[in-house]
Amino acid sequence: MNAPTDLLRWTPQKLVDFLRAEGIVRTHFVWDESAKTVRPSHPQLAAIARFFGEDRRDFQAHEGVFLQVSRDHDTLQGAFVHRTCRGQAAGGVRYWNYDTVEDYLRDGLRLAVGMTRKNALAGLWWGGGKGVMARNPAVDRDDRRVRDAIYREYGELMTALRGCYVTAEDVGTSVEDMAQIFRKTRFTTCIPAELGGSGNPSLPTARGVVAGMIAALEHLDGRGLEGRRVAVQGVGHVGGPLLGLLLEQGVDSIVACDVDAPLVAQVDASTPAHVEVRCVERGDPWIFGVDCDVFSPCATGAILNPGTIPTLRARVVCGAANNQLEDSDRDDAAIRDRGILYVPDFLTNRMGIVTCADEGAGYVTPDPGIERHLERDWEHSIHQTCAQVFEEAEASGRPTGVVATEIADRLSLEEHPAYGHRGAQIIASLVRDRWWKARDPESSPAS
Ligand code: NAD
Repeated sequence: MNAPTDLLRWTPQKLVDFLRAEGIVRTHFVWDESAKTVRPSHPQLAAIARFFGEDRRDFQAHEGVFLQVSRDHDTLQGAFVHRTCRGQAAGGVRYWNYDTVEDYLRDGLRLAVGMTRKNALAGLWWGGGKGVMARNPAVDRDDRRVRDAIYREYGELMTALRGCYVTAEDVGTSVEDMAQIFRKTRFTTCIPAELGGSGNPSLPTARGVVAGMIAALEHLDGRGLEGRRVAVQGVGHVGGPLLGLLLEQGVDSIVACDVDAPLVAQVDASTPAHVEVRCVERGDPWIFGVDCDVFSPCATGAILNPGTIPTLRARVVCGAANNQLEDSDRDDAAIRDRGILYVPDFLTNRMGIVTCADEGAGYVTPDPGIERHLERDWEHSIHQTCAQVFEEAEASGRPTGVVATEIADRLSLEEHPAYGHRGAQIIASLVRDRWWKARDPESSPAS
């Protein structure tokens, strides 16, 4: 048996080649709570289990990590299950480039924890998990037939995992891709509307951001968005509709920017004169320094950092972008120290997963299960949760992100009222039944 020690530094494709050579199509790494260690299904992969067990940055007693090499197009596919006390682990599947196996694994671990927190803070009866697929540089990622094959196999992985993880859409994955997954498994959400799914969640996400802004402004001086000035970074699927929603709230003025010139022209033409939409170069710091009540990041992550935070001239930061803080501890505290109220992104941008989460339970229009997140009174609504976070942060002097994380972590340990901690039982049964040995008739020669 060959058990390499340096495989974290390999490219994902080198790992794929190794797995093929070893005849491994599927593998797992499962947390053993009593021994406080990670157990690999295959001793050849002990280095990955060791990395999980020793890493304090991103590994947080994840219940299980499951990997598969796709039959077609040699793609490394994974399901990262963090915590399933509240229900099956739910979170989208990312399809992305990774330089090393370590980068790939860290992304999956970190994103899965983020979903545990987002789902718990939203009061959803779902645990947290994430799917990650590493792009094979040798295949054309835009070729529809290639994508169909890869995503169908991802659906097969969901089925093999018996529902401990339920997938959804994420960066690099499209609605068409979700339809392919749906062909192979029931354990998916975010499927196209024509197949009975909830469709594009961007408008609800923008509504969630508005709810967060109002909660923050009311906390500061008792008034909502009327008469305010808002700066929006990115006018894409969320930022675009956000402009209209802000106008409905009676804002005084909006300044917005995007790096996409045709999109800027289109948005500019469809908004009134008190909305200024500028085309900027990537990295242009202008929007951060706009004098405004609310700065709303709706483009990419990691934009709040030591370079940008000192230049902010807003009273509130509240937007849809995921992982806005480059370093969650450092930058959360730096924003607080500047006297700016930060609405944690995973609190206010929840509506994407909220609209997808309960698709399987049917829907009504408008859906009270969705609308309550945007109302004031429900205990887990964006408004109530924001108020709780702001009050606790103020009383304790701690940054809002830290407080929101603590509340989320506490909620994430509550067990599902009907199914208890069933995800852990599913994982235990997968290990017992050696799920990775199951082969279907189309298995690759290496298996
Ligand atoms: P999108 O790609 O449609 O829009 C993002 C826009 O930002 C694009 O128009 C892009 O050109 C622009 N942009 C990129 N870099 C920029 C920069 N430096 N300055 C200005 N503009 C820039 O994405 P989206 O669906 O609108 O999502 C926006 C953010 O919200 C993303 O971080 C996404 O992960 C997050 N999010 C989205 C949803 C959803 O429902 N769509 C849900 C939760 C979180």
